[in-house]
Amino acid sequence: MEQKRYDYLVVGAGVFGAIVAWRLHRAGRRVLLIDKREHTGGNLRCERIEGIDVHRYGAHIFHTSNPRVWEFVNSLVPFRPFVNSPIANFEGQLYNLPFNMNTFYALWGVTTPEEARAKIDEQRSEYDIAVPQNLEEQALKLVGRDIYERLIKGYTEKQWGRACRELPAEIIRRLPVRFNFDNNYFDDRWQGIPDGGYNALFDALLEGIDIRLGCDFFANRAELESMAERIVYTGEIDRYYDYCFGRLEYRSLRFETQTLHRENFQGVAVMNFTDSRTPYTRIIEHKHFAATQSPYTVITHEYPQPWGNGCEPYYPINDARNNTIYALYRAKAEQDERTIFGGRLAEYRYYDMHQVVERALETKLP
Ligand code: FAD
Ligand code: UDP
Repeated sequence: MEQKRYDYLVVGAGVFGAIVAWRLHRAGRRVLLIDKREHTGGNLRCERIEGIDVHRYGAHIFHTSNPRVWEFVNSLVPFRPFVNSPIANFEGQLYNLPFNMNTFYALWGVTTPEEARAKIDEQRSEYDIAVPQNLEEQALKLVGRDIYERLIKGYTEKQWGRACRELPAEIIRRLPVRFNFDNNYFDDRWQGIPDGGYNALFDALLEGIDIRLGCDFFANRAELESMAERIVYTGEIDRYYDYCFGRLEYRSLRFETQTLHRENFQGVAVMNFTDSRTPYTRIIEHKHFAATQSPYTVITHEYPQPWGNGCEPYYPINDARNNTIYALYRAKAEQDERTIFGGRLAEYRYYDMHQVVERALETKLP
């Protein structure tokens, strides 16, 4: 039989695709990596504007408690320590996130953990929720009405385009609630951002690998498939199988980036707008990720939007309907000996970067 030009075609140059391509290349396999975008890095891509590293697809802060993952990314590029401490803006009132003593003090004037617990318990006791059936019930059970109404409801309904009662509880189980004054958004042991931005990390991973950018797998599927023995696929799994079990749903975003002729716009990297009237969810001020010195500043407004008509599928919507459909695709994928599926879209999971790194390092490559 005729030998194919490549051992592997890797579809998608985001975290999963790039790390798997790196592993295969190191193991002496012939790899072709493609991405439909004009750049590598997926949603981690940065762009330098006025000397500031701008996260093109929203704020990306790397955090992990897995020593293998942290050592791996640090072996590629140096990381600069960064602690994400976003501020919530509700109708002009500012609150610290995640929910902690600073938040409780600003909300209720309570100054001790005991008082804060009593206040939250009092609010939670208004509801009789044994097992939360949706995000609203989960939020009320976790933190009570005030926090739900000021800091969760508006943000979440904008973010997902659905009422909180129609969203899965899991989405906010990841938000910490703390009875101390710690404004660190993440609970993980390590946290940071690559010095000089994420592009350097991808440059280190992809050195020596054949790459085609602006190359959509589905525009040329037959030809691309004929070039390699196996495929690693990191795009939407339902599309890979021609939607044979129905369509999965995703949520998209629109980013509006501007350069401002002033030094400091909001004094923090991430500000969340938690009311329902403001149409965007977050403003990112990129220079604060790396304390960059510049007379200018670059900000990005993040607007959630429905997915479709060429918009990027940034988030899977893991409700019961979608998870049931995904399980059918998953079962089909498990029988597929030629293709390996990995990452947020191919596994239809609300993964953060460190989880994708872990999956990419652990996935068996035949
Ligand atoms: P992706 O990065 O999406 O890579 C998939 C790649 O495949 C893309 O480059 C895409 O263009 C390409 N592709 C898809 N279909 C095709 C096709 N048909 N042909 C060719 N190429 C194709 N995680 C954190 O840990 N910390 C954060 O602070 C954080 N912030 C985030 C903020 C936002 C706004 C978003 C959307 C995500 C955030 N994440 C964060 C999550 C992080 O972006 C993901 O975990 C990570 O990017 C997933 O990597 P991936 O390789 O699975 O997918
Ligand atoms: N969330 C919220 N208020 C906030 C921040 C987050 O209600 O100020 C909820 C919202 O439902 C969001 C989820 O928590 O989708 C997860 O937040 P995270 O910051 O992890 O979102 P991501 O960065 O992944 O978009």
